[in-house]
Amino acid sequence: MPAANRQFRLAARPVGLPKPGDWNFTSEAVADPADGQVLVKVLQLSLDPAMRGWMNEGRSYIPPVGIGEVMRAGGVGKVVASKNPQFAAGDVVSGGFGIQEYCLVDGKDLARTGLNKIDLRVGTLSQWLNALGMPGMTAYFGLLEVGQPKAGETVVVSGAAGAVGQTVGQIARLKGCRTVGIAGGKAKCDFVVKELKFDACIDYKGGVVKDGLKEHCPKGVDVYFDNVGGEILDTVLTRINRGARIVICGAISQYNNTTPVKGPANYLSLLVNRARMQGMVVFDYAERYPMAVREIAQWMKEGKLHSKEDVVADIENFPASLNKLFSGENFGKLVLKIADA
Ligand code: NAP
Repeated sequence: MPAANRQFRLAARPVGLPKPGDWNFTSEAVADPADGQVLVKVLQLSLDPAMRGWMNEGRSYIPPVGIGEVMRAGGVGKVVASKNPQFAAGDVVSGGFGIQEYCLVDGKDLARTGLNKIDLRVGTLSQWLNALGMPGMTAYFGLLEVGQPKAGETVVVSGAAGAVGQTVGQIARLKGCRTVGIAGGKAKCDFVVKELKFDACIDYKGGVVKDGLKEHCPKGVDVYFDNVGGEILDTVLTRINRGARIVICGAISQYNNTTPVKGPANYLSLLVNRARMQGMVVFDYAERYPMAVREIAQWMKEGKLHSKEDVVADIENFPASLNKLFSGENFGKLVLKIADA
């Protein structure tokens, strides 16, 4: 049995970008599983923009992480000991393990933790945190259920080189849509067009988004999948078509604001265009994840959908690694490697 389990716990509620002092790096003994329990060695963890929201006090779609608690995070790992008949040592699993090296899951918490066996013949560990995991599910259900794209329509997605955005654009393309990304920097935009086969990508750091939309969406925007909020959302609203669907998936440009969130000044474009804007939370679709995983896995197998991850190392680097999401330093789904398989 390993001696110690190192963990990151929330020390304080951040103001603005999380600081090193907002975390406590602690260590505790690893316990043997009791009846019904499963002990998982964490191999890789998903770093998500949503973590910033979970650090805030207040009402949301999920309770905030309490001060002193291990930071919430999804991950993949290997069962090292089990006293639960549903799992055996050696099983590779995904679940809500938290930022720690080992996770002891209670029998009564199996569903809450989302403990699930995963098949490494279908995808790698990091792909199970990306296209086959929560970001892929967000892209699939957010685009297809909320965005409802039709062949021939124009779909625009922000955060296009990121975890959710890359899969949104690729599915839109597979559904026969003109697909235009928005991302920060030439390297990301080149990747989105050359590797992911979007029709175009607008570099919001190196150009004017409005001009890019005029050039690359000559027939207007039918679906906008919004990952960033703020000014980009406001600009896209000026280019939407009648009956457009705007999927409010996230607003990363606003998560570290110390002033009130910037809402869309151009919202009357919804009225003029009989358009709708709808929020979505991926967990609402949990019962249908297996179906979506099967379809995405098939696209991956056929080489029609790529899953790009940015894997960074070591639990000690968690605080600095998380902040890469807010500076755009991640290139693909940000994954923190905790241990070798
Ligand atoms: P990601 O796109 O892999 O990483 C975040 C990216 O956001 C960065 O790489 C950066 O890309 C971009 N960004 C950061 N600050 C920005 C700013 N001020 N303006 C514009 N872009 C900025 O992250 P992800 O996991 O796929 O998440 C994308 C969005 O989906 C987030 O808003 C997240 O909260 C949301 N989400 C929602 C759900 C749901 O159920 N509703 C589930 C998962 C994720 P650039 O270099 O291109 O700027």
